[in-house]
Amino acid sequence: MPGTELFGAEEKKEINDVLETGILFRYNHDAQRNNIWKARDFENEVKKLLGAKYAHAVSSGSTAVACALAAAGIGAGDEVIVPPFTFIASIEAVLFTGALPVFAEIDETLCLSAKGIKAAVTPKTKAVLLVHMCGGMAQMDEILAVCKEHRLTLVEDAGQAFAASFKGTSVGLFGKTGCYSFDFFKIATCGEGGVMVTNDEQAYKNADYYSDHGHSHVGNNRGMEPHPILGFNYRIGELSAAVGLAQTRKVPYILQKNREHKKILMDELSKVSGISFSKLPDPAGDTATFLNIFLPDTEAAKRTVDEMNKAGVGGFNYWFLNMYHFINQWEHVKNLSVAAKLPIHILGAPQDYKNLHLPKSQEVVGRLISFGIRCTWTHDEVKALAKKIAACAEKALAVHA
Ligand SMILES: *Cc1c(COP(=O)(O)O)cnc(C)c1O
Repeated sequence: MPGTELFGAEEKKEINDVLETGILFRYNHDAQRNNIWKARDFENEVKKLLGAKYAHAVSSGSTAVACALAAAGIGAGDEVIVPPFTFIASIEAVLFTGALPVFAEIDETLCLSAKGIKAAVTPKTKAVLLVHMCGGMAQMDEILAVCKEHRLTLVEDAGQAFAASFKGTSVGLFGKTGCYSFDFFKIATCGEGGVMVTNDEQAYKNADYYSDHGHSHVGNNRGMEPHPILGFNYRIGELSAAVGLAQTRKVPYILQKNREHKKILMDELSKVSGISFSKLPDPAGDTATFLNIFLPDTEAAKRTVDEMNKAGVGGFNYWFLNMYHFINQWEHVKNLSVAAKLPIHILGAPQDYKNLHLPKSQEVVGRLISFGIRCTWTHDEVKALAKKIAACAEKALAVHA
């Protein structure tokens, strides 16, 4: 989680600007705010870094997914293809917008594959919610082709892939709308925050209205503004935006450090026969927030995890068993457990979530171990970690050699 590693004077300065005026609200109060507009500055910084036409900051990555879906016109009864490997927010956003998730296969990119999407398409499919996982990116050439062929709206959840790119275009900007998380565990953090992006003016306007009870944000009398649509409160506050602004400026440095460290790890671990790496459709666009290794099979991955626990190697995730990012751990999705009924309870689920057949995803996540990369590591620390991982994997692999 590199963002939190670099919290310092720059963040405090931006926060202090807000504290000086006391205007914690992102809109209006023009006379009192002394021209301090942190949410706007944060959005402009994101636009500049990513090359996005429009960016809209909101209260979380989860509400950014909700805005991205609504702004792309996804709503009640629409079937949306989703991955079984993602942070649960992606699935919740689809369900709470009233739409119906359809799980499809991922591949070694850790993202939905074009093949997986194609196999899941039905005449009712409206959209694909593509999640760029673990700092990397999906195979965009192939996915864009499938979406075009089947006339599917593409929405990108790049919650974990802020500033990742594919062939020079930032992920999040391939579809109708995209979004990023700035929670405490991401490459840049606001504490809590998110950003929705798009190159489509109307989609941007809809996200802007939707995130603030439909307010048009035209003029400087909030009480008298027009409300073109209904919305809700997904607003970001100025203090969070101030942190996001300072953090976004640090992302180019974080990328550079992460990539250096990941290269050392990969160079070392590629010498271990039996270890391979997740597929990066454009290695140059990787944020390198994670080193994602594959063992030959699920049993070998489990043994490697055991060896690493014994050796005290920390900082890794074994999503297949231990983490809340894979469908095997989502009993509440399988049972559609809710506090209050959703459209899916009335319309019916498009799949039997308790009996999904996703062998490729099971195999890929079963073999996967992800290591969080820290930008503040020294080269010696990185080298030492690589050696420890290699030793554990070698031990685990020797068992059946
Ligand atoms: C973190 C994350 C989110 C949710 O972000 P929050 O800011 O925690 O609400 C959504 N999607 C993905 C893929 C994420 O990793």
